[in-house]
Parts: sequence; C-alpha cells; structure tokens
Amino acid sequence: NKEILQVKDLAVAFQTYRGKVKAVRNVSFDLKRGQALGIVGESGCGKSVTAHAIMGLLPKENSIIENGQILWQGQDLVNFRDEDLAKIRGNKIAMIFQDPMTSLNPVLTIGTQIKEVLFLHKQLSDKEATEKAVELLNLVGIPFAQKRLKDYPHQFSGGMRQRVMIAMALACEPELLIADEPTTALDVTVQAQILDLLKSLQEKLNMSIIMISHDLGVIANICDEVAVMYAGQIVEKANVDDLFYHAHHPYTRGLLKSLPHLNLNKEDKLYVIDGQPPDLKETIDYCPFVKRCIKAMKICMQLMPEKTQLNKDHYVKCWLEHEFAPKENREEF
Ligand code: SF4
Ligand code: MG
Repeated sequence: NKEILQVKDLAVAFQTYRGKVKAVRNVSFDLKRGQALGIVGESGCGKSVTAHAIMGLLPKENSIIENGQILWQGQDLVNFRDEDLAKIRGNKIAMIFQDPMTSLNPVLTIGTQIKEVLFLHKQLSDKEATEKAVELLNLVGIPFAQKRLKDYPHQFSGGMRQRVMIAMALACEPELLIADEPTTALDVTVQAQILDLLKSLQEKLNMSIIMISHDLGVIANICDEVAVMYAGQIVEKANVDDLFYHAHHPYTRGLLKSLPHLNLNKEDKLYVIDGQPPDLKETIDYCPFVKRCIKAMKICMQLMPEKTQLNKDHYVKCWLEHEFAPKENREEF
C-alpha cells in the first residue's frame, strides 16, 4: 500500500502588515490510499494553511512556500504550474469546507452546479450529466434526488447543503478528499450523520481523507491516524487509539481533557487550556507550548524539543519524553 501523498518539511509564511508570519513550520506526514488522517489543533495552528498548500490554494499575493515538498504520487506539487495544479485539484484531490453556503452559488440550482463540475472534468451529454448528478445525490443520501436537482441552495438545510458539497467534491472521483472543519457549522446530530456519511464513502470508494478539525471528537470518528498541530508544527502524531489512550504531549492531553464526556457531572467544568500560543512572527527556538504547559522545565525554554519516536507510528515533540529530561518531571497529571 503505497503513499499517495508525502508532505516533507513544509514551511509556509505570510507577509502581513505586522511582518512575516511563519504559519507552517516544517510539517511532514505521509498518507496511503484509503487512509484517513486527522489534523487537529486550535485556530491559527496552521492546519488549514497546510491543506491550502496541498490544494494549491494559498493566496498568491502574500504567501510563500518557503521550504519543503508536497509529493502527490511522487510528483512535487510545489513546483507545479497553475494550470497543472488545477487539473489535480477537483480531479484527484477535492476539498470541502465549513460553510457550504459560501461555496454554493445561491442563484443556480443544485443540479446546474453539480453538472457544471461534471462538465469540467468529463465529456458527458446533458442527459448523462443529469443521471450522474442523481447518482451522486443518492450516494450522499439526499432523498428524491431527481426532484431536488431543481432546487436552489436555500431550499436545503445546513446538513443537506453539506451533503450537496460532498456530492460535488465526489463528482470527479477524487483519490483524496480534504475536509476542513466540515461539520463545525452543524448541530450535533447532523454532524454525526455527515461524519458517518464520510466514513462510509471513504470505505466504499477507497478514498483517502485528510480531516481538519479543532475537535478531537470529530477526528476520532473517521481517522486512522492523528497529527496534533500547535504553533505551526506537528507536536504529536499517532494512530487514533494511541492518541486517545496513550497521548504524551501535554497539549494533546489538554485537548483530550477538554472533550465533553457523556457522564459529565454538573459540577465538572470542561477543561480549558489557559493562555495563548506564541506569536508566529517570531523565531521559536524553544518549546512553543512552554508558556501554557503545567509540566514545563528549564530546558523547555532553552531548546526546541526534538522528536521522540515512541513506536513505529507514534512520535512526540516534548522534552518530557526525551532521554535527557529530568526524571522527576515525568509523573502523571
Ligand atoms: Fe511542556 Fe516542556 Fe513538553 Fe513543551 S517540552 S510540552 S513545555 S514539558
Ligand atoms: Mg481553519
């Protein structure tokens, strides 16, 4: 099972009026066919920027890929010309976003919009495109598909609109679907339905998924592997079970503690990680989590933690795990 995507030492910076912001700092990961990777972290951690870099959707005016490679089946997308990237985007790699309303055209019917996508990628007659559109709506669980093709976006509920967006993303049979907070705007029940849908489509179509979310609960439902991002870096990466049951990075543990549990007592407040991430304009040559970390040691302020491999699929960037870290700081919390 070969990697279809390999991101290597990716660094992305933005020029802002306040100065250069280093939003993604040497991010690396691989993705195999049919595999689902979750990228979790709070807003501004670089997870969406990573996705946009893969899609070739970084704003040209003020962003730059400063370093690294994005290998799509061995070819480096970083050096691709726009027209070649456009062929991969929406064809091999598709993306869905948080708010379907902003991505759908309010004055065109759903049918017209799905067929537009189909015509862009396939030689089809109008009749064939209509049939394919019905098939896609059926696939994403929209009832009365034939009839609903004539409806406009506002005639669909939020959950149904997200299903339409997924149908459009699937129109060209992508090998990789990138979902950026796809359920954040939806209520909990609908969120669960959309996640179930994505999971079943992934299995049915043997599609790879990168699921981006601030919510570990969302990631748990879908993903085989999880990368935790903080201040532009991956600070811990593991398969989903190790991440949930054997998390080592204090930030990951904080995220886990902040998950709502079904058996939450009335008195139990949700855990919140105090403080702010560091300013990404600065060079950070210490642990970026140090100001918020209840386990911080002296070394954490002096040196960037090195990667410690805990098993084949699990690594963490934290001095607590490093062989030179003082032992007395290793107690559970
Ligand atoms: Fe906390 Fe130090 Fe680990 Fe950073 S390296 S997460 S400050 S213990
Ligand atoms: Mg985002």
